[in-house]
Amino acid sequence: MIVLASLSWLSAFPQPFYGCTGTPERCTGTRRVLAQSVALYWHRAGLGPPGTGVAKRPWVIILWGDILIDLHIHTTFSPDSTSTLKEILEIARERRLTVVGISDHHDPESKMPDIAYIHSVDDYVKAIQSMREAYDFELLVGLELGIQSTVDEIPQGDFDYMIYSVHEVPESYRIERLPDPWNSYLRECLAALRPMPYPGFFGHLDFLRRYVEGHEPLHPSALLDQVLEKIASLDLGIEVNTSGWRHPFYEQNPQAWIIERFVELGGRYITVGSDAHSKDVVGEGVDEALRLLSKLGVPEVFYCKQGDYEPLPITSLISAVEM
Ligand SMILES: [Zn+2]
Ligand SMILES: [Zn+2]
Repeated sequence: MIVLASLSWLSAFPQPFYGCTGTPERCTGTRRVLAQSVALYWHRAGLGPPGTGVAKRPWVIILWGDILIDLHIHTTFSPDSTSTLKEILEIARERRLTVVGISDHHDPESKMPDIAYIHSVDDYVKAIQSMREAYDFELLVGLELGIQSTVDEIPQGDFDYMIYSVHEVPESYRIERLPDPWNSYLRECLAALRPMPYPGFFGHLDFLRRYVEGHEPLHPSALLDQVLEKIASLDLGIEVNTSGWRHPFYEQNPQAWIIERFVELGGRYITVGSDAHSKDVVGEGVDEALRLLSKLGVPEVFYCKQGDYEPLPITSLISAVEM
């Protein structure tokens, strides 16, 4: 049994050292999480009990325990979701998430039969805001806005961010049934992307893998480059959507090479989301996604608060945790 840390020991470090950007009260929670994580990460790094392992860089391991961010979560404000806001927040606390973003569906003028549309944006925003006092993590008001080239509606409200997703194209909401689905999808992405009033992240880029035959992945193309460049030039980001790990192709959306390409083409803002539609998968895959980003050389992930992007450093420390 290794006892490495106490709350007072962790208090000695300045907040930026472990990525806490919240209020002092919230950082107290962060310190608690870090203290509880120390033994686990020590173990995962293979450092083992005293005398059996080689403790080379223990600080590196301790730091990593902090960043658990999930900016893509649905509640029963979305018709295809099964857990209430309260249930989601309770499980987020249990799983020690640091930053939690609620992003329910809003698809204006959608042709999808189970149209997802929040009728009272005010009620939705207030419902989330009213929960902030009860939780010691950063709770953000988001929205997964279904964007279309032919629709111009963007709801106004006190949103911290939006997930901008293309779920359908003008010809059909069943994109996978079109003759060249990837081409249709990317063309619509390019056409639907425009200056947005809220900061945010393009949702589950390459999600069409869920539906196309054989889960055929996206391949490099000039069109994809245009989409990625446009996202970056609009000062938007992309998300690493971990729900792909719950599909048969078992890979995050988008694929790693697309994330790398986004960065090569000037993209900076990257976040992580589980796309949970029920409480059991809140935060699922976030740690794997952070490891992946670190391997790709991405230094930080972002969330948005009151119109600004806030960084959370991943730092180079994750490599020390690899076994
Ligand atoms: Zn979506
Ligand atoms: Zn979603």
